[in-house]
Amino acid sequence: MIKTYFNTIEDFIKIRDNCIFCNQKLDAILTTYSSIGPPSNHGAILANINSKLVDDKFNFRIKYTSISQNVDTKGWIDIKNNCHIDESSDEILSLFADMMPHIDLQCNKCKMNYYLSGASLRFDNPPLVNPFILFAEGFNIGNLIILNTWNTQTNIYNKNNLTLLTKSPGIQLPFIPFDSINKDVLINKVQTYATFF
Ligand SMILES: [Zn+2]
Repeated sequence: MIKTYFNTIEDFIKIRDNCIFCNQKLDAILTTYSSIGPPSNHGAILANINSKLVDDKFNFRIKYTSISQNVDTKGWIDIKNNCHIDESSDEILSLFADMMPHIDLQCNKCKMNYYLSGASLRFDNPPLVNPFILFAEGFNIGNLIILNTWNTQTNIYNKNNLTLLTKSPGIQLPFIPFDSINKDVLINKVQTYATFF
């Protein structure tokens, strides 16, 4: 069974080296779930974060404008969970947390778009990133998105009627551990279920 709790980003990156479909080395990326700030902030985050791991560090830029705030600063997170933001303040750290930054391990070679996503990073003890859990594991087959919300269930969504993933009426299946099933069987299984919607 795959590990699901990580003290450090370094631990997370080690859970899987290669894509379960094509064996390509997975890329570690710092990215965000949200490109728009929370409604309470009445502003917009202008730059999505999509930062590849280089020399054990993810570099990022926070660009944000609202009536009361104009933020444009840079920072980095390293694999030992140290977070540095150039113009750091509690406000900017909480703005960064609102963007729901997280670490993805992604395959950028095959058409399956296989990935593992860590839960959003939190900063209860700055400048350190809190330990975090595995949040999701997913891949695509054509228009289908197959997603394991970790260890509870496997969901299949259709990209064509997807507005917000969480609101989409996907098909819920009993949990399928992607790593311990033959990949042809897995793809077949998903396509069989998907013919019903
Ligand atoms: Zn792949």
